[in-house]
Amino acid sequence: MATLLSPLLIRGAEPVPLLDALGRVLAEDLVAPIDLPTFRNSQMDGYAVDTGSVTTAPVTLPVRAVLAAGDGETAHVPGTATKIMTGAPLPVGADAVVPVEDTVTDDGGHVTVCTAPAPGAFVRERGSDIGRGRPLLPAGTVVAARHVAALAAVGLTHVPVRTRPRVAVISTGSELVPGGSVLTTGRIHDSNGPALAASAAANGALVVSVDRSGDDAEVFAAKLAHATSAAEVVFTSGGVSKGDFEVVKDVLGPRGAEFVSVAMQPGGPQGTARVDAVPVLTFPGNPVSALVSFEVFARPVLRSAAGLPAIDPERRPLATSLVSVPGKRQFLRGRRDGDSVVAIPGAGSHLIAAMATADVLLDIPADTTGLEPGELVRVLPL
Ligand code: AMP
Ligand code: MG
Repeated sequence: MATLLSPLLIRGAEPVPLLDALGRVLAEDLVAPIDLPTFRNSQMDGYAVDTGSVTTAPVTLPVRAVLAAGDGETAHVPGTATKIMTGAPLPVGADAVVPVEDTVTDDGGHVTVCTAPAPGAFVRERGSDIGRGRPLLPAGTVVAARHVAALAAVGLTHVPVRTRPRVAVISTGSELVPGGSVLTTGRIHDSNGPALAASAAANGALVVSVDRSGDDAEVFAAKLAHATSAAEVVFTSGGVSKGDFEVVKDVLGPRGAEFVSVAMQPGGPQGTARVDAVPVLTFPGNPVSALVSFEVFARPVLRSAAGLPAIDPERRPLATSLVSVPGKRQFLRGRRDGDSVVAIPGAGSHLIAAMATADVLLDIPADTTGLEPGELVRVLPL
């Protein structure tokens, strides 16, 4: 499986508009192309002064001008004050700002400074946040809103991000209809298609197609050919068990696929294939089995390919006791409860609404038959 999926790990970079970079992974170390702040400016609404003229306080100075944010460069006249707003460029020659709260004004265009400011007081020096050419964000950063802020501040409109692994999903089963259809007896909504697509997208993949096939070999083969034409990896669901209409097995078996029974529950029947040089993972159809299969077999490699950090397992004490099938590694649905974890009742792999209440999988080793409250279990965050 690792060899099959290893081509996914070789990735390039693509420039994307800044807002599209949210959640993407920076492909390169980025340096600041400009100083931040770019010019010396005021940190407060107040009065710009030169400290050489304000050595004692209180002192009254004539107010020469008013500067707003957005105004350009001006010159300071020693012994005067300039009324200045936050973000306005400090007049050249001034070296401190006295906040408006520390001043008294009269009607005659004078201001009285109540406390003598230290040089540099309430002045934002050029480059004091970051200097031009200094490291801004390293490659591998998963872009969040705060990174967008920094990238926008230095004026970048596009950033280089790692390309996302392209994923196609095909659900199989003649019983499947899309959401929005009227359900007649025997028919069910396809939930694995949307679920696997969402799982892939949530773990850094670009979902290129979400398709559905009945249990008809020709139809499935055609959908598969379409999927492999655009995707770097295909996930199928259903059609790999021991029944009569196992379309995935029927089509891929003769094409060299390997179908195995993994000693895990749910998600035992698994298969791998390479179709048109594209790796295909064939997950079982039961909705919980399909999701657990994704978590166990696909999520780690997708995240690694996308450049996203691995999800670390946790160890938590059980809040309740549980029993486990011997000889099979169990992935039980669970929910964090404070520092501990509870197993969600109901073992059926069709219990998709119950699965939605889980936020972890409890990874119970094959040789464990039961656990008591307080015992530590390995927990995989969903
Ligand atoms: P299979 O693995 O094809 O034998 O399917 C096992 C069970 O999962 C059956 O009850 C199917 O109806 C159900 N199932 C298969 N595929 C899906 C799907 N895409 N969405 C929801 N349920 C499915
Ligand atoms: Mg089926």
